[in-house]
Amino acid sequence: MPVQNGGDIIIDKTPLISLVIPCYNEEEAIGLFYEEALSVLEKSEGILDLEFIFVDDGSKDATLSELRKYAARDDRVHYLSFSRNFGKEAALLAGLAESTGKFVVTLDADLQDPPSLIPEMLRVVSAGEYDCAATRRVTRKGEPVIRSFFARCFYYMMAKVADIEVVDGARDFRLMSRLYVDAILSLEERNRFSKGIFPWVGFKTKWFEYENRQRSAGATKWSFWKLVIYAFSGIVAFSSKPLAIASVLGILFFLTSLVLILIIVIKKMIGYTVNVDGWASTTCIILFTSGVQLFSVGILGQYLAKTYTEVKHRPHYIIKEAA
Ligand code: UDP
Ligand code: MG
Repeated sequence: MPVQNGGDIIIDKTPLISLVIPCYNEEEAIGLFYEEALSVLEKSEGILDLEFIFVDDGSKDATLSELRKYAARDDRVHYLSFSRNFGKEAALLAGLAESTGKFVVTLDADLQDPPSLIPEMLRVVSAGEYDCAATRRVTRKGEPVIRSFFARCFYYMMAKVADIEVVDGARDFRLMSRLYVDAILSLEERNRFSKGIFPWVGFKTKWFEYENRQRSAGATKWSFWKLVIYAFSGIVAFSSKPLAIASVLGILFFLTSLVLILIIVIKKMIGYTVNVDGWASTTCIILFTSGVQLFSVGILGQYLAKTYTEVKHRPHYIIKEAA
């Protein structure tokens, strides 16, 4: 868009939209994504220019050579390639930091986030009332039952303990204004949990809903355990209530022991003989209380570990190649 500046015409190269796409072993999906995104966006009125920022998160397959191919063919395609797999959160962060568009869309490479929603999202955000258009899945169709069950448990727990509202089924598929992106980038934490960071920065968000879709190609990169660990780190990142729970448990057990000691002392004073029986119940009590202690120390350890990674202040990712 040309801009007049004291007689000189400066060509404003800022693209309207940047698409940020994290890719980990997506050799088959990239081509499909590129074709589909272009076919939707080029047709759409008002989207004059765009840029693709693919982030290769240390893929082990031919993802990088696919990206090189598309970048050589189309100068709107840019890519960053990490030195190893740093995780989707790091890939999203790198893509956002690299993006230059007035609006930025984050979406998966596997077409589970339909690019056909982007024109409508852009219309809503560019009208100015909203700073972000976010999406959530209304169904979990096609997902293993056990995974859906634990996902629901996680959202339920998060709603109880977190100080921010994490929306059930929210995807990382978002269209954000530059202001919103800069707010996200101002959070420098290492332990990044986007599902919490988005609501934490605030602003006005418009929600779009859609049905779950199957991947276009390849397989999911999230194993069940990877998801469990991700869920725990989300809770630690956005709530200190587990620490409070551990403290309350400690106080409760201390008070219970005081009452029991008092009962034994009074019984002794009024002449009851204390039974030597009951080693089984004693063992159970010892096992139970030491279990609670380890549980509490474990919680403390989680927070300490996260604090340790924060204070080391290592970079979020290392870029090996970019274009
Ligand atoms: N992804 C990534 N790094 C990882 C895992 C995943 O960049 O360590 C990318 C992946 O290539 C995809 C997106 O994150 O574009 C979502 O991953 P996936 O589709 O496997 O997750 P699901 O949709 O099954 O939750
Ligand atoms: Mg997916």
